[in-house]
Amino acid sequence: MPPLPKRKLSKGRRDRRRAQDALKARNLVQCSNCGEMRLPHTVCPSCGHYKGREVVEVEKE
Ligand SMILES: [Zn+2]
Repeated sequence: MPPLPKRKLSKGRRDRRRAQDALKARNLVQCSNCGEMRLPHTVCPSCGHYKGREVVEVEKE
């Protein structure tokens, strides 16, 4: 037998715990090169630019 909680958690307590489980939207900034939304402090996934005109990776179909 594994260790088990002594008492059942009430619906209210359970729901209060789960109230903070939802994922919040990641904050996005607009790329200064192409205008796409991207995560801050990352190379832009759509144009490969970072901090002005630093080309790190370019992917095109
Ligand atoms: Zn970009």
